[in-house]
Amino acid sequence: MKALGKAKRGPGLQIIEADVPKPGPGQVLIKVKYASICGSDLHIYKWDEFAQSEITELPRIIGHESAGEVIEVGEGVESVKKGDYVGVETHIACGKCYQCRIGKKHVCRNLKILGFHMDGAFAEYMVVPEENAWKVPDEIPKDWVPLMEPMGNAVDTVLAGDITGADVLVVGTGPIGAMAVAVAKAYGASKIIATDINDFRLKIAKQMGADYTINPEIEVVKSAVMDITNGKGVDVILEMSGNPYALNSSLEVITNGGWVGLLGIYGKNTIDVPMNNIIMKNITLYGITGRRMFSTWVKTTSLLATKRVNLSPIITHRSSLDEYEQAFSTLMQGAAMKVIFEIG
Ligand code: NAD
Ligand code: ZN
Repeated sequence: MKALGKAKRGPGLQIIEADVPKPGPGQVLIKVKYASICGSDLHIYKWDEFAQSEITELPRIIGHESAGEVIEVGEGVESVKKGDYVGVETHIACGKCYQCRIGKKHVCRNLKILGFHMDGAFAEYMVVPEENAWKVPDEIPKDWVPLMEPMGNAVDTVLAGDITGADVLVVGTGPIGAMAVAVAKAYGASKIIATDINDFRLKIAKQMGADYTINPEIEVVKSAVMDITNGKGVDVILEMSGNPYALNSSLEVITNGGWVGLLGIYGKNTIDVPMNNIIMKNITLYGITGRRMFSTWVKTTSLLATKRVNLSPIITHRSSLDEYEQAFSTLMQGAAMKVIFEIG
């Protein structure tokens, strides 16, 4: 089968000719229909420190945001069957550690990630544990399904605290920030303000339901947000940029007693934040990682099946696996939101 991945150390990717994998006990074989490119795939493409530390075995088929049809099930598989159309939870939890046993699989201590620690989704076929195949109803358009994985990050960030009636600032409207705008709206947020330094992406955030958009390179975020909220500031910040400067400037406009959902990953582990302001203003910070398995998938499925969230504006580009160079370069230039590989 044809696949895309890393055959040699160094920047770039290669088309790999691999054997069709066999599902072992408790596993399912999926014929991949659609797979989308995640920001972490860009790290693998660039072969930065993060990618080098996570991908130790080569060749490795990469990619994880995916959807397709179950075509074979291994011994003992009961919850999905041949013919089911499924989305894929990327995080493979051990099921045995303390966190897994108390219902927190999303923070499993022995987590394995598809497309990093085992072969992934940029391929004609992939094998995943039965538990990771999430059956989706026909009401959800087939090409939205790979986006359910990053949308789950948005859902968990939006629902980290009380969002109902809250004025919300979404910082960074990449795919996840843009989806968070729609999710916050669906869950009853009041004014939704979105910031990004990329006007193409801000325009999509508006289509996703942002009431106001601000480009911090053109407008001063603090005065714009204070005007919009009549001097109160926002109740909630959803930090989805991974830019420490963006986090700090948004903390200037959070109202006393507000909360911050932190999803964005920073380039370095330690960043400066005004800690005394956070304490004195009684701000709650929530670190968000992954998706809750599998209550988040229930929420994501419901939002999409009822069309309370429409993902069409997010899918800006489509590609074949062969045209991966063009797909990755469009994304790296910030000229795309989500690029989907049409595989099956
Ligand atoms: P992305 O990189 O596509 O989006 C980030 C956006 O932030 C971009 O559109 C960028 O233009 C914008 N940005 C940069 N500087 C800014 C500034 N000063 N002000 C406002 N916006 C600014 O990423 P994504 O795929 O949408 O993911 C969002 C973030 O979440 C990333 O940092 C990613 O690494 C992280 N992430 C975390 C988890 C987790 O489990 N915690 C999972 C997935 C992604
Ligand atoms: Zn575990």
